[in-house]
Amino acid sequence: MHPIRRYFKCHFICLLLLASTVSSSETSLRVVTSFSILEDLVKQLGGEYVQVVNLVARNNDAHMYQPKPSDAVAIAGADLVVFNGLAFEGWIERLIKNSGYKNQQLIASNGVAAIKNGAELDPHAWQSFQNIRVYIQNITHSLIGLRPQHTEKFTQLKKQYLHRLSDLEHRLKKELASIPRGRRVVVTSHDAFAYLGREFDIRFVAPVGISIEVEASAEDVAGVIDQIREKNVKALFVENINNPRLLEQIAAETRVAIGGRLYSDALSEIGGPADTYLNMMQYNIEALLAAF
Ligand SMILES: [Zn+2]
Repeated sequence: MHPIRRYFKCHFICLLLLASTVSSSETSLRVVTSFSILEDLVKQLGGEYVQVVNLVARNNDAHMYQPKPSDAVAIAGADLVVFNGLAFEGWIERLIKNSGYKNQQLIASNGVAAIKNGAELDPHAWQSFQNIRVYIQNITHSLIGLRPQHTEKFTQLKKQYLHRLSDLEHRLKKELASIPRGRRVVVTSHDAFAYLGREFDIRFVAPVGISIEVEASAEDVAGVIDQIREKNVKALFVENINNPRLLEQIAAETRVAIGGRLYSDALSEIGGPADTYLNMMQYNIEALLAAF
């Protein structure tokens, strides 16, 4: 073989060898998340060591999502797939199976105190400071398992994040303490805030159940209107992930103005008022405080 060709061949093989060792332990972890709240958490907790591909875009509804072919491609190339569980993403198991993915899966809500809603579990467990600490532990645990050499950094990122979370939680609880319990009643379009309600002693009423798949019946809507009149509810909120039409109809009928928008199952666009998990919690609770 010509010496120059031999030289190139050797270098090419060396590069290939180098590339394969690098990809197994040193390059950033390729993580796929099912929806924007998990995308934010993984980025906050994984820092420079993760590259995240997120499936359900910001301001979009994960209950009714239709996976795209590119989603299966992203999953097939991932080191870790993170999803909420509690039957929130009814489409994900099939998608993972069809992609041929064999690496690690993390159900982020594993271990939360789930709220029962009839026969179903309420999937919206992230709307709770207590629960999100469980998500955080689960995510950090997975990241450390896959990249143990960065344990110290992941532990530090988690500690900093938990600190910010607690600061926000205490501040919001203090602000809410001045509102009498009887006034803490809110109407939203679908039942996404039971966890927040449990934690902050707020009553949420919605014409649509926990999964949006079934449309509200005339009876459901009439029931909500009755409650608004009976309890003199002042806080009506549309959500960022679904059509505001139903809430607008209820607002018109009860002559209660819509108090704004709550971020339930997805973050806002980047630069918007709820573009991270912490910003979402702050924005939602401050919007409720203003309406009460
Ligand atoms: Zn929902």
